[in-house]
Amino acid sequence: MSDERRRASNEDGVSDPPPESGPASPARPVGPAGPASSDSPADPAHPTSPASPADPARSVSPPSPVSPPSPVSPPSPGSPAAPARPVRHRSWPRGRPRPPDPSVAVLWERTEHESRLFATRFAGRLLVLGASLGMILTLILGVPAGTFSSSWWSLIGACALGVAWGTVYLLLPGPAPDPVLKATPALSALLITTPMALNHNNAADGMLLLTWPVLFAAYLLPRRTAYWTLLVVIGCLAVVLAEGTGPGRFTVWVEITASVILTLVVILHVRAQADRLKRVLAQQARTDPLTGLGNRRAFDEAMDREIARHRRTRAPLSLLAVDVDHFKLINDTWGHAAGDETLASLGDLLPRLVRAGDVIGRIGGEEFGVLMPDCGHAQALARADSLRAEVSAVSGTWAHKVTVSVGVATLPDSASTMTDLVIAADLALYAAKESGRDRIRAAPDRS
Ligand code: GH3
Ligand code: MG
Ligand code: MG
Repeated sequence: MSDERRRASNEDGVSDPPPESGPASPARPVGPAGPASSDSPADPAHPTSPASPADPARSVSPPSPVSPPSPVSPPSPGSPAAPARPVRHRSWPRGRPRPPDPSVAVLWERTEHESRLFATRFAGRLLVLGASLGMILTLILGVPAGTFSSSWWSLIGACALGVAWGTVYLLLPGPAPDPVLKATPALSALLITTPMALNHNNAADGMLLLTWPVLFAAYLLPRRTAYWTLLVVIGCLAVVLAEGTGPGRFTVWVEITASVILTLVVILHVRAQADRLKRVLAQQARTDPLTGLGNRRAFDEAMDREIARHRRTRAPLSLLAVDVDHFKLINDTWGHAAGDETLASLGDLLPRLVRAGDVIGRIGGEEFGVLMPDCGHAQALARADSLRAEVSAVSGTWAHKVTVSVGVATLPDSASTMTDLVIAADLALYAAKESGRDRIRAAPDRS
């Protein structure tokens, strides 16, 4: 994920005490102040929720913040003063709804097991279809040597074997074993070739059936398997040529061999393109384009992973809910573009303030989540305060200074489930906002 790449430069993490002075590293400066804009963009991510806030009195108070709650840099002369707006409940915790559409992973990123199962079923269908067709044609048209001849029986037998083989693949509870699956197209080529050779039949339609194994191998099996399947098929075509007697059989052989090779090349090329496209789309589907951080989908997936790991290892897992203070004021005063640039700058800065194993994502308009595996509550509080102080210090060099409020919750101290953890972090964030902003607040201990 992009956030993981971006944070790779911060192996040692943030030191626990908040920094004394300004920026440790230069952040991308925000561009010049734009014209004052009176229209504030609609924020679809911020519906008001009636849920009650946490009782701030019950919250564990972190070290009091060093910087005063100065939400944004002073507006230009004549710009409106910060309106006293009621603090609204954050949008995040509403039962932590899952993404409505199936995950990209589900759609495109098949596991090894799923890929083999799909290939097994696909091979099963091809075998049943092709062999049934061959059986029907043989029963209707017979063979030159006549019905019930050995040639006829060889065809019927090969077709029956194909149907039985395909049926087994369709009925198997799981995928066929890997070596068997890889050998399937080559074996089916032999199954097609044997009765043709016994019949001394080199008809083009029979030989064309040999494109099926190549198609299957090129699209569904590893590249190397596709290449040796092609060699087996070319060998089978050579046997058919050697056993055949019809006129012009060499021309037919050359044409069909060339077609089979071309089929393999085209399918492999198309497959490589599709794979590249899938990778790019999967990455885009998990990346927030403005900040380059993981988006809500990526963050949810990371939470699922980390919660599962917490259940296995019982290692603590902390969650920071980070929200920019009075962000709307930047939009209202300097325009939406200035707000966007500030968010992009935060997208650069925040990954440098977390450790390599942490996950950071933009989970709402001006809300970020930080997931801290193996991080206990006290340590999470210290790191949250460090992050808060660093944002305040570094953004002092930007065109529009910002501060953030942070809610901190930890598994198992603050909650026992993922949903409760998210709610706990959000209520703590709410308490941080209520107590003046540019602050961190901890979720109360559940014991
Ligand atoms: P608080 O301190 O209570 O968090 O106040 P706030 O102004 O930060 O919060 P509020 O929820 O009132 O406003 C959030 C604003 O963030 C409103 C919305 O227009 C803005 N916003 C959300 N997404 C984007 C974005 O992608 N770009 C810009 N420029 N603004 C955004
Ligand atoms: Mg905000
Ligand atoms: Mg917000």
